[in-house]
Amino acid sequence: MAIKHDLPVDFDASRYDMIVVGAGYAGSVVARSLADRRGMRVAVLERRPHIAGNAYDLLDDAGVLIHLYGPHIFHTYDQRVFDYLERFTHFDGYQHRVLANVHGTLMPVPFNHTSLKLAFGQERGERLYRRLVETFGENKKVRILQLREANDPELEEVADYVYENIFLHYTLKQWGQTPDQVDPSVTGRVPVMVGDDDRYFQSPWQGMPQGGYTKLFERMLDHELIDVFLDVDARSVLSVGDGRVVVGGKPYEGEVIYTGPLDELFGLDLGALPYRSLDLKFETLHQDQFQPAATVNYTTSEDFTRITEFKLMTGQKIDGVTTILKEYPQAYVPGSGQTPYYAILSDENRSLYQRYLDRVSGIANFHAVGRLAEYRYYDMDGVVASALDLADEIAKAH
Ligand code: FAD
Ligand code: UDP
Repeated sequence: MAIKHDLPVDFDASRYDMIVVGAGYAGSVVARSLADRRGMRVAVLERRPHIAGNAYDLLDDAGVLIHLYGPHIFHTYDQRVFDYLERFTHFDGYQHRVLANVHGTLMPVPFNHTSLKLAFGQERGERLYRRLVETFGENKKVRILQLREANDPELEEVADYVYENIFLHYTLKQWGQTPDQVDPSVTGRVPVMVGDDDRYFQSPWQGMPQGGYTKLFERMLDHELIDVFLDVDARSVLSVGDGRVVVGGKPYEGEVIYTGPLDELFGLDLGALPYRSLDLKFETLHQDQFQPAATVNYTTSEDFTRITEFKLMTGQKIDGVTTILKEYPQAYVPGSGQTPYYAILSDENRSLYQRYLDRVSGIANFHAVGRLAEYRYYDMDGVVASALDLADEIAKAH
């Protein structure tokens, strides 16, 4: 493998069987799978100065391992995905736990049995808990919007509390919309837990990659048939039109894997796909530990949504210093240099996406895959699954 900066002046796309746009999970998994399985020669073009996409991590000036684009915890129900990534790393089994700061009281999120007692007091909390168990069963996950529909005065009280104190302000900050306005799948990611489990994810396979995510990507892309070119915006050499892909001014016959936003490929000519962005503020503190959990969500106060303390997530041992991250959500303005972190899911936005997709769906060698290119709220495992499916499809055709 070679990782280089910029495209060489004599870059010749026809020497490659596949051009991959983006060195995140989507692009890197497809590149590696097809280099391995079909001996394809791959050029990966990445406009950032590093690999790993939004999962990129690095040591900051204080020596703390940080996630530059926000906290990333691997979790999946899909053993195929876990096994695939374990070829390039070892996941340490870390289980993420989150506390919500509700008017100064810290309680587990997802809101669970413990949270109920902290919110309503021991006795009342137990009574309400029994009611929840009678209604939904024990160790069940209930979406907040579902809980709000429960036709029971006591459960209504719980629903109102959770809606107001866990979801409303956080969601307003994150999306600029109320929980009723955002797609139900979004708040459904963090259900109410009728039980004692205080883990953020219940997936059987979880953990942090030993040595970090960037190392995982270095190994994944370390293949004699893969060349990575950093600091290269693919649009400077690649375009799509008239039912074909053109690279370096010539029609390209190889496979093209595109993992960026689809609207950018067409100069946003149908309108911009809406996204939310984040202003990520890192702070180095000269103390061993800042907070009692890796992530604390500020659900009733502050302009940021959450504070993550990386050492508590990565298990890194380093005394006297710690790095925290505050996430300030903001509107995404295309062309402003911001990162399009979250697709804003709605019927209207999906249909705009579909109109862009229709323009490329007839091009047999062009494949849009990943969180941006599919305009989905994918976690890492969802992207890897989608990329592995695409690699299967392409492998069959070759
Ligand atoms: P990306 O990682 O965005 O990679 C796409 C790459 O393509 C980028 O590097 C981009 O620079 C490049 N690119 C785009 N256009 C071009 C172009 N024209 N030319 C060249 N290169 C281009 N998932 C989890 O499972 N667990 C978590 O805890 C978690 N936390 C998250 C926290 C935050 C704040 C965010 C925003 C996401 C989180 N995710 C998490 C989701 C995870 O980041 C994504 O699912 C995953 O990184 C997406 O991979 P991808 O390859 O689809 O996209
Ligand atoms: N959410 C909330 N309060 C919380 C946690 C989550 O209101 O304490 C809502 C919010 O709308 C958020 C969504 O649930 O955007 C999904 O949360 P998750 O933690 O999965 O978001 P991500 O880690 O992807 O930013």
